[in-house]
Amino acid sequence: MYNITVIPGDGIGPEVTEAALKVLEATGVGFSWQRAEMGHEAWERCGNPVPPETVAAIRKSDAALKGPCTSAPGAPYRSPNVAIRLELDLFAGVRPCKAYPGIRTPFAGTNLVLIRGLTEDKAGAGQFPAGGHQARAIIEAVRATAGKAIPADAALSLAICTENGTARLARFAFDYARRHSRHKVTVGVKASSANHMEALFWQVCHQVSKEYPDIECELEAIDVLFLQLVRRPQQFDVLLVPGNNGGLLSGLCAGLVGGLGMAGGGNYGDGLAVFEAAHGSAPKYAGQNKANPMALILSGAYMLRYLGEERAAERVETAVAAQVAEGRCLTYDVAQTPEAIHGTREVADKLARRVRKIQP
Ligand code: NAD
Repeated sequence: MYNITVIPGDGIGPEVTEAALKVLEATGVGFSWQRAEMGHEAWERCGNPVPPETVAAIRKSDAALKGPCTSAPGAPYRSPNVAIRLELDLFAGVRPCKAYPGIRTPFAGTNLVLIRGLTEDKAGAGQFPAGGHQARAIIEAVRATAGKAIPADAALSLAICTENGTARLARFAFDYARRHSRHKVTVGVKASSANHMEALFWQVCHQVSKEYPDIECELEAIDVLFLQLVRRPQQFDVLLVPGNNGGLLSGLCAGLVGGLGMAGGGNYGDGLAVFEAAHGSAPKYAGQNKANPMALILSGAYMLRYLGEERAAERVETAVAAQVAEGRCLTYDVAQTPEAIHGTREVADKLARRVRKIQP
């Protein structure tokens, strides 16, 4: 019996979360779901988008499954998605991107994994005490010493890259590649003399790669990586990038394989993991039984694998692949005919039936 913290989140979150739980239960694996609050609605109710009880519940659980949470720029509301990663030191975000046969995409055969840092780069500035006040003090100091070079009306952001943090992320990526029989890690940065942070990121990744002679490591300038991804993404295996580049690539990579409704993922720390889809809370579809639950269902499959339930994970992935290939019961975003369009619940019900039929 696994104890799992379940965070329904905002917008379409509760609907896709219920759909994912239904499919995970169909595997027959024993789960005890502990529901916890997080997000904009939690903030409206209790004044905190990441209540401490939720953080404590995740720490005590075997893993967490999280629906999307709305984040809005500006004080006093902070992005709960960034906050939880920093609070729990979930340093590696993993986004497998696979083009399932049956999905309309010019990039058939794409099967790559994006691994991005989550606790350094720009988001890392939030690690400073008092929600970034120290970061703001540093920025003010830079502004003062730089004098006229920085206009008084400029907005400045701080980004952080440490050797230790990058080495930890790089080892995670190479270990992941080894465990999943992948053979190449492509590091995507702009390692120019004007970009010290990304230059350090590459140097450290390159150094760590020497511990893994069985895995090829290559550097690709981030702009060229974007170009290559929209020309021939099939050439890539594992992509390893700092947080900010990763945020941008995450949307692009989802687009290669059918859109946000098909992109699942997991955020990993030391002995902790929170699984969530790449998409956000899509407020305009909230409560309409319209959103594609497959991204969170695939995230659930990655959670099963993390828990050591390899066969159950395979059954969920096989069911998703079969349903997409058949093309008769899919949500609006991936269905190819009007008759094939079904709601979130119907897609999940059919997937759950398929999972039950696959030999455990
Ligand atoms: P979004 O991913 O919520 O939606 C963008 C568009 O993608 C939607 O309008 C819809 O057309 C499509 N889409 C997304 N998910 C889908 C699904 N499951 N099925 C079908 N179509 C889907 O991005 P946004 O509108 O920029 O963000 C909305 C809110 O979500 C924002 O507050 C944002 O900060 C937040 N967000 C949260 C997370 C997270 O919780 N990890 C990630 C991204 C965005």
